Amino acid sequence: MAGKHVVVIGAGVIGLCAAEAMLRRGFRVTILERDAEPGNGCSYGNGGIVVPSHFVPLAAPGMMAMGIKMMANRRSPFGFDRPWNLEALDWTVRFMRASNQAHVARSAPLLRDLNLASRAIYEELVVGMAPEVGYEERGLLMLCQTAKALDAEARLAEDANKLGLKAVVLDGQGVAAVEPNVWMEVAGGVHFLDDAHLTPATFMREMRGRILAAGGEIRDGLAGDDFRTADNHIQAAGGVEADEFVLATGAWSGQVARKLGLRLPMLAGKGYGLTVANPPETPSLPAILVEARIAVTPMTDGVRFVGTMELGPPGLRQNPARVEGIRSSIPRYYPNFTPGSLEKSPVWTGLRPCSPDGLPYIGRPKRYRNLIVATGHAMMGMSLGPISGKLVAELAANDTPSIALNLLSPDRYA
Ligand SMILES: Cc1cc2nc3c(=O)[nH]c(=O)nc-3n(C[C@H](O)[C@H](O)[C@H](O)COP(=O)(O)OP(=O)(O)OC[C@H]3O[C@@H](n4cnc5c(N)ncnc54)[C@H](O)[C@@H]3O)c2cc1C
Repeated sequence: MAGKHVVVIGAGVIGLCAAEAMLRRGFRVTILERDAEPGNGCSYGNGGIVVPSHFVPLAAPGMMAMGIKMMANRRSPFGFDRPWNLEALDWTVRFMRASNQAHVARSAPLLRDLNLASRAIYEELVVGMAPEVGYEERGLLMLCQTAKALDAEARLAEDANKLGLKAVVLDGQGVAAVEPNVWMEVAGGVHFLDDAHLTPATFMREMRGRILAAGGEIRDGLAGDDFRTADNHIQAAGGVEADEFVLATGAWSGQVARKLGLRLPMLAGKGYGLTVANPPETPSLPAILVEARIAVTPMTDGVRFVGTMELGPPGLRQNPARVEGIRSSIPRYYPNFTPGSLEKSPVWTGLRPCSPDGLPYIGRPKRYRNLIVATGHAMMGMSLGPISGKLVAELAANDTPSIALNLLSPDRYA
């Protein structure tokens, strides 16, 4: 088993965590990354929040109705980019079918377990990394301006408590006591105490260094989507032969899987980020501005605001109206962040890999004996990177996965 050669396609957080976990088990690992100069993709510019609080999948009751309402507003945090194509329509139908209470009830314990296991691996991974990775376990504040949003968050906190997660409902004063150094215009919030945060780009750089130091090979600028196959066996990807292949190509995974004759419904969930390098004030823990659907994270290089979910085919074209929507929402919660201070920050764009039921695809598709799929983590890929890497390594070693993978099967839409 050890010494087996594994090719990992895609050097995002999922690919790097899988590579690192497999190297620790003694495999030979080669990573193929299409970008010649990676460093700006989804795994680098995201909100950096590790989210046990996110135990409700994207496909949940009420999401469709909320999405339709938001679509009417060009500046809203949700919309479709080119919705009138078969792929988007097919995805939407599947999303609607999955958005029910039974799906949420089935998924919540699994998402909790995956997130808590991932956080535990983060605690080990960051040991010996540069302090600029900034990994901290201070929880997450859900900040609400309206009583309606606060009620909904309080109900979520109750569900979290039932799942064994720590969540405390706070009024305005309670929020100010948790975050005393920042001026916030909020009615209250919920403090989810199990969450953590880090500065993703620094973590990614440290992981690349660790992989190289452990003898792994990273081939940037080499796409791994021209496959040589024989029967139910992949022989080579991007011209590189191996015993085993891991498909971790993020939002492009649907397209790459199609080349293997696999059906992996996937849309890119485009989001934007602004990092204020010299902020007027720095929160001590991350927050989500609930009505505006913006996440705020104190990072080692500034305060980062991320938001928007614009579903469509992978593509980085920016939508100025949605960026403006983010910029104009922030001062309503944090009056000290003036529009001027936000306009100076360059806008980053990233693509979340979104499956229709809001759950990742992790597992071995039946069609191939030597392929492992690890993708579709949507808005929690940074959080779930380490556990996904561990699960991939377990599958590659033909061990029983430490967390049951039946809900995550890459064959569930085959
Ligand atoms: C605005 C925003 C905020 C977010 N905030 C958070 C957060 O706070 N917490 C959290 O947990 N998650 C967050 N996420 C989600 C998280 O960033 C993603 O889920 C995660 O980065 C996906 O990782 P990945 O490795 O699957 O994909 P990617 O990071 O996209 O990596 C895939 C890689 O595959 C490469 N590739 C594609 N095709 C090929 C090919 N044919 N051959 C070789 N390489 C290929 C790509 O170039 C890319 O480098 C956020 C996302 C966005 C957009």
